[in-house]
Amino acid sequence: MTQAVIRCRFLPTNRKEMEERGWDELDVLFVTGDAYIDHPAFGTPLLARLLEAKGYRVGILAQPDWRDRQAFQVMGRPRLYAAVSAGAMDSMVNHYTAAKKIRRDDAYTPGGRAGARPNRAVIAYTAAVKGAFKQLPTVIGGLEASLRRLAHYDYWSDSVRRSVLIDSKGDLLLFGMAETALIELTRRLAAGEKISTITDLPGSAFTTTEAASDTLLLPSFDAVSTDTQAYNEAFRLAAEQTNSYTAKTLTQPHGDRFVQVNRPAAPLTEEELDRIYALPFCRLPHPSYSEKIPAYEQIRFSVTSHRGCFGGCAFCAITHHQGKTIQSRSPASIEQEVDRLTRHPDFKGTVTDIGGPTANMYRLGCRNPQAEQQCRRSSCLFPEICRNLRTFDPAMTRLLSDLRQHPKVKHLFIASGIRYDLLPFQPDYFNALLQYHVGGLLKVAPESGSVAVAKVMQKPGPDKFSDFLAGYRDRSQKLGLRQGVVPYFISAHPGCTLGDMIDTALFLKRNRLQVEQVQEFTPTPGSLSTCIYHTGQDPFSGEAVHIPRSAAEKRQQKALLLYHLPQQRKDVVAACKQCRREDALTELYPEHKVKQQTIRSEDKGEPQKGKQRLQRKRSH
Ligand code: SF4
Repeated sequence: MTQAVIRCRFLPTNRKEMEERGWDELDVLFVTGDAYIDHPAFGTPLLARLLEAKGYRVGILAQPDWRDRQAFQVMGRPRLYAAVSAGAMDSMVNHYTAAKKIRRDDAYTPGGRAGARPNRAVIAYTAAVKGAFKQLPTVIGGLEASLRRLAHYDYWSDSVRRSVLIDSKGDLLLFGMAETALIELTRRLAAGEKISTITDLPGSAFTTTEAASDTLLLPSFDAVSTDTQAYNEAFRLAAEQTNSYTAKTLTQPHGDRFVQVNRPAAPLTEEELDRIYALPFCRLPHPSYSEKIPAYEQIRFSVTSHRGCFGGCAFCAITHHQGKTIQSRSPASIEQEVDRLTRHPDFKGTVTDIGGPTANMYRLGCRNPQAEQQCRRSSCLFPEICRNLRTFDPAMTRLLSDLRQHPKVKHLFIASGIRYDLLPFQPDYFNALLQYHVGGLLKVAPESGSVAVAKVMQKPGPDKFSDFLAGYRDRSQKLGLRQGVVPYFISAHPGCTLGDMIDTALFLKRNRLQVEQVQEFTPTPGSLSTCIYHTGQDPFSGEAVHIPRSAAEKRQQKALLLYHLPQQRKDVVAACKQCRREDALTELYPEHKVKQQTIRSEDKGEPQKGKQRLQRKRSH
């Protein structure tokens, strides 16, 4: 083992590890639905290390048995509060497929086994903490709490649920990435302030019996749970309050109480991010685990260069959680992390990813601070690329070039998603990507081959994707490389009719693309697509939107994306016939036309062999 690994000390997970540090109590107890991997890619360890650096005594309870009160008491009652998170994913998304079938695996658990966390983990863990420690303040956060902070549609119960603050009885909810709010909250609690009086933190939400007069009043839970128009209005009003400069405080009545959601926290600066990533993470799973953790295997040799995404895709919740503003680390900080990786005993020379939610957004953003402070757009790319957007930063290519010079780095890949509509503005990055960082296959996500559906998804549309493909193939050829793309498409997304999916299948055929895996749309909490799925309307335009709901339509849509597989052909033929798109059928399967002609000829009496065969078949 290297010195770096030997020196590393994990945060305590039990009484013995606390005592080894000479601690008789914790200040803050973190509870998480994921295994404890001491790596900045995971929210709980990142926040816990941050508080540790501020001098607080912090412990991590990873995947405790929520049915066993004692499992929560192994490190005793913390002095200040318990911080509860479901983990990196919403627990319902983690547990169920789009068809609501139980998943058999969990990438965030040793051995990849399912079942280590409860359904609706924030609620279950908070109840367990409250059972274990009477009157202890509980702070809920992470993706599940963040995206369920207001009344929201829940696909798994097919109903509108109350804010998770009401259902969990948490004292405070921190949404978004939460570093600034958590540090300030801990400082004030340590100074003796009561949690019930801490109501002014940006990026926090809480329940109250009185609505403050200067807040934006949303339609109540009662209204949004029974009236889709009210739901749309609440969604639209909340979506307009995501800019931390201009956002108003929101209030939503829930019976005789109110959920108050303060404006989001300001984005972190480069220096702040660099400080976080320089914290003494072990970058390993806790030594108590004997089995591999799939999520760790995926990220162990990858580096996060930035956070946030200004793409604003309708089905994605990243903008709602990490924000639209790109927060980037300095090149030096990233290079230091890569250097640390190369000293890992298992490092074989391959850095598997340098990226963030979208790889080619590193250091990009609004070049007009005044416009940015007033901006209410959910995307800087849709419907058109905003003229204020800085679409390229030379630091992107410089960084990759510098990292390639590292003597121990043999391969450096970009595995994070790429926004192909930005690549025309990034010719040097595009070339470097093809030449050094693709590894034969580039993952791209056009998501639909239909103009109308791309519009609902807030994606660039098939023409832009075709342009990208042509450029990609042309550049690859000039570089003497044989490289393909792995395209990602979503089936059964709101707005997608069978006709749209037939167009998408034709788009695939015309562009010589084959989809390997289809992602069926899942209405995850908080996204625009989920709102449309629930109400059947675009909340901004009021237009009615087709929602594929029946199992038959979903199956046919999926089959169309996989039209090249023989086992899907029956459904594809049925879908094309149902939509009277025989033209599409003959384009998708040219041999189909030949066969039809042959059968017609047979009916006219030739060829004889065919006719005889047909008669034999009938006579059986
Ligand atoms: S003004 Fe344009 S570039 Fe700036 S934040 Fe708004 S949409 Fe993005």
